[in-house]
Amino acid sequence: MEKIQMVDLQGQYAKIKGEMDSALQEVLASARFVRGPEVTAFEEELASYTGAAHVVSCASGTDALQLALMALGLQPGDEVITVPFTFVSTVEVIALLGLKPVFVDVRPDIFCMDVTQVESVITPRTKAIIPVHLFGQCADMEPLLDVARRHNLFVVEDACQAIGAQVRFSDGSPHTAGTMGHIGCTSFFPSKNLGCYGDGGALFTQDGALAERLRLMANHGMRQRYHYECVGLNSRLDTLQAAVLRVKLRHLDEFTAARQAAAADYTAALADLPAVQTPTIAPHTTHVFHQYTLKLEGVARQPLVENLSAAGIPTAVYYPVPLHLQKAYASLGYRTSDFPVSEKLAQCVLSLPMHTELDREQIQYIVRILSQELQ
Ligand SMILES: *Cc1c(COP(=O)(O)O)cnc(C)c1O
Repeated sequence: MEKIQMVDLQGQYAKIKGEMDSALQEVLASARFVRGPEVTAFEEELASYTGAAHVVSCASGTDALQLALMALGLQPGDEVITVPFTFVSTVEVIALLGLKPVFVDVRPDIFCMDVTQVESVITPRTKAIIPVHLFGQCADMEPLLDVARRHNLFVVEDACQAIGAQVRFSDGSPHTAGTMGHIGCTSFFPSKNLGCYGDGGALFTQDGALAERLRLMANHGMRQRYHYECVGLNSRLDTLQAAVLRVKLRHLDEFTAARQAAAADYTAALADLPAVQTPTIAPHTTHVFHQYTLKLEGVARQPLVENLSAAGIPTAVYYPVPLHLQKAYASLGYRTSDFPVSEKLAQCVLSLPMHTELDREQIQYIVRILSQELQ
């Protein structure tokens, strides 16, 4: 059996090496390392894959979130509603821009924003909501968009973990993660479902004027060379990364199917184990399994993690401390028990190896050892 890894990028590269190497060689030969033709080609291909009218690439998922809030014209002191159970970037960019993060808790079943709590924290200063499509399934977007519409708020989707996931609205129409809000953000960090070989990110929008503004802001606010229309960032997707992503986008459906098959195998094998709860997929969304995350029930996590590790099974805890309890965000004034679901999840979640190269033998081994440990 191959050594089990949390994410296996070497195995994935070995399968696409021919295509990948020639794509990279082309960029090297052209020497157009910034704003080369692959960047525009990738943006167009990703727009067509997701159904977004416009895709604007940038240097990371974090930058995408920051650019989104900048382009929407949010002002210092404006409030942005999001969740404390997420990767730090979602909240970091709000704080960096002098905006105020306001949290609502997540749902215990799907780990995404509890939309029913949003209205109770809206104030006259609230300007935007950032739902996070955590671990690969989407937040409950239809009721959230409804709240946003009624209160005239922007919606910025953090789709960094959910590229290709789809929400079905009550009229039956499918909508891809990142294309439902005013702006959607994604990340191409190497371990993400569509990962490049370094940092990268992109923004989705249906609004042409907003796309134009995002493009401007991602390139120093510069339209005409050395003439600056607004304060911007240096946040571009390298041509080499765009070339990598064009190759991987052609395989994304297979990659997603491999993740979903691995998840289905895990879930079938772990269904009868009372000490773990396998992931719930909400009826409104598909799940692209960026992570396969269990909830442990009445099991001490640390010794389990150590025993699995000793048996050659890596695991990870996403995320061990919710953001409202982090030192960096203490000034927001939140306390323990303000968001009990996030706090409980931080203590009981455990993510198993999940990537495109997991095979049946590895999954059977993981499940066998895990079951023994939990007897
Ligand atoms: C990865 C991630 C980000 C940040 O993306 P980077 O490309 O690493 O900057 C933001 N939000 C979530 C939920 C993520 O998983």
